Amino acid sequence: MKDMNSTRRDFLKTSMALAAAAAVAGPARLFAADTGRQRSRIPAGSDKMVLTFEPFEARMKHVFTIAGSSRSTTPIVLTKISYQGYTGYGEASMPPYLGESTASAMEFLRRVDLSRFSSPFQMEEILTYVDNITINNTAAKCAVDIALHDLCGKIMGQPWWKIWGWSNKDLPSTSVTVGLAYGPDGSIDREEVRKKTLETLDYNLIKVKLGNAEQDDKTMIDTIREVTGLPIVVDANQGWKDKDHALKMIEWLAARGVEMIEQPMPKLMLDEQAWLRDRSPLPIMADEACQRLSDIRKLHGAYDGINIKLMKCTGMREAREMISLAEALHMRIMIGCMTETSVAISAAAQFASQVEWADLDGNWLIANDIFTGMKVVDGRITLEDKPGIGVEPINN
Ligand code: MG
Repeated sequence: MKDMNSTRRDFLKTSMALAAAAAVAGPARLFAADTGRQRSRIPAGSDKMVLTFEPFEARMKHVFTIAGSSRSTTPIVLTKISYQGYTGYGEASMPPYLGESTASAMEFLRRVDLSRFSSPFQMEEILTYVDNITINNTAAKCAVDIALHDLCGKIMGQPWWKIWGWSNKDLPSTSVTVGLAYGPDGSIDREEVRKKTLETLDYNLIKVKLGNAEQDDKTMIDTIREVTGLPIVVDANQGWKDKDHALKMIEWLAARGVEMIEQPMPKLMLDEQAWLRDRSPLPIMADEACQRLSDIRKLHGAYDGINIKLMKCTGMREAREMISLAEALHMRIMIGCMTETSVAISAAAQFASQVEWADLDGNWLIANDIFTGMKVVDGRITLEDKPGIGVEPINN
């Protein structure tokens, strides 16, 4: 492993030297009040990496409801790393149920001291150091990881999908979520669900959040099916606590054009999940059960595959390792997201050619994205030949 890392670093260093002269990237100013404390000590264009960060509130287009919670905003912390006139952008997204907050992410980022490293291409060392600062804080770690990848890609003048030797041709469609909607009487608001479904018809794949009372789950699917025959993937978010009920639901869903189920049962019910997988007519993917690389082996056999999310796994470096391990175990792969701006979505999109399902609608779900990046065309993910993660700030 050490040799591989050394080789990778050497490769990156060489590429940097070759590409540096050709790369063009001005240090775009993103943050209105760019008063990060490290920056105040070090001038722009410094040979030291400078990490700055600032909170941002993503406003959802619709109130977002999943099994167990409901919200209209998502706290985000935006990061950037500046180095020799280049700027890499990153982001931590922190849906409340994951246990991180703006305060905890800012506190974590204040502890990150990049001045101890002389080059951003020491990626393995830097990201190992960042991961070792605390046990958790995966979204905050991810905010450093994405910004560092963006920075290094920009210095090399290449996008990560290309640096990793992958393709930007025939990428998968992204699913878009039709969220649960309840009326004042506590039952599914069918009119609202129809309206939300109509908004998804330019896409090729619908994702539906289930895992509630049986009647509500079935009403959601029946209502969507009144509007469209598009393929559906279902995310139960651990909502089905009984394996017989889960199996009955999956069989019912399979008869209605559903092609995959994400996290039907609670993540700790691994034996029941293995029982369910043996009988399920649909592939079952682990989401809440699969946070990081170290989780994958124990899921093998109980799930058909894993849902990789950058915010869970600390970022692009570990996501790439998770893909390699899942492939080695013949597990199926999807890539998902939280509510995110185009920064984290574009970082995740670098992996699109390596996955069977992409669920990258986080930027589509928010009303105030402040970056442009990965674009969905005819429902499919597209990746341009832009360096790093391929994003640019809007309104700067
Ligand atoms: Mg999920």
